[in-house]
Amino acid sequence: MPEERVVSPNLTEEEMEEQKLRPSRLCNYIGQEKVKANLEVFIKAARQRQEALDHVLLYGPPGLGKTTLANIIAMEMKAQIKTTSGPAIERPGDLAAILTNLQPGDILFVDEIHRLNRSVEEVLYPAMEDYCLDIMIGKGPSARSIRLDLPRFTLVGATTRAGNLTAPLRDRFGVISRLDFYKEEELVTIVKRAARILDIGIDETGASEIGKRARGTPRIANRLLKRVRDFAQVKGEKLITRELANYALNIMEVDNLGLDAIDRQMLLTIIEKFKGGPVGLDTLAASISEETSTIEDVYEPFLLQLGFIQRTPRGRVATSLAYHHLNIEDERDEKTESTLW
Ligand code: ADP
Repeated sequence: MPEERVVSPNLTEEEMEEQKLRPSRLCNYIGQEKVKANLEVFIKAARQRQEALDHVLLYGPPGLGKTTLANIIAMEMKAQIKTTSGPAIERPGDLAAILTNLQPGDILFVDEIHRLNRSVEEVLYPAMEDYCLDIMIGKGPSARSIRLDLPRFTLVGATTRAGNLTAPLRDRFGVISRLDFYKEEELVTIVKRAARILDIGIDETGASEIGKRARGTPRIANRLLKRVRDFAQVKGEKLITRELANYALNIMEVDNLGLDAIDRQMLLTIIEKFKGGPVGLDTLAASISEETSTIEDVYEPFLLQLGFIQRTPRGRVATSLAYHHLNIEDERDEKTESTLW
């Protein structure tokens, strides 16, 4: 990606330092009520039995709080957390080294777990199921395998693509939780909480404006808050109001639904270049110079949620809602549109 988008849910360096915005207890984690309620029971039960928690898989678009939740699980279990990611574990030996260094009850957080390679994944199966590691010693006819016992640990996996996980891996998770986009009022609470922590003056209307345009994503809510604060500071304003938030977000080209220039370019490309679609993902990605994976992970989930695009077997289609949002007349008659689905 060339320049980091202001509504991109990927982590920037600035945000790496902003760990203080992460809620550290389940009770401070805003929204995702169902996921929280379930985890609360499982954590309590595991603690009562003085056992490690069952393996947990968290999935959903980036920036919704998977890493935060993994850290909260460790905190609530009073356990240590070791963090790594699918692409970082290149060889089976790398994973074996991580696993043999775990203490009983430890949480192993593997982000982007769908990107583990197959040979590494195979080491994970017995580790997750039987808490053991099969190691080959020697080569050729004298090679033999020995079994090492591992401490009881909890694997917390996070992925933006649950569909890309192999069935044997998915089946080994005892708890599978999907994180959804946040409601506007939850994002407003998140913005107000972040403003309090970062000591930013904001009133209810300002927080509501930022919450409304945050694409249902806490990471984006926090990022927009910080950018709006920059505008406030430069203008010499001490309080972020709706007016000021509006002014700043309009300059940043974040529209009233949280779509930015790239979202609009993507919709316009489908509508203008491909007559509303269907257009294949690869063609679409090439037309707007983006990676297909970025489109699938970052842009598309929110546009799907808004009902602005549809995925059909023949490709992506812009809906009448998208035409309406962009103020373009939808000249496709209903019959043509319905045959596309
Ligand atoms: P993911 O791992 O899903 O990409 P993160 O856990 O890194 O997302 O969350 C991104 C940021 O959003 C965090 O720094 C945190 O400050 C904020 N955040 C996420 N979920 C919540 C929540 N439920 N309540 C408050 N803040 C949250």
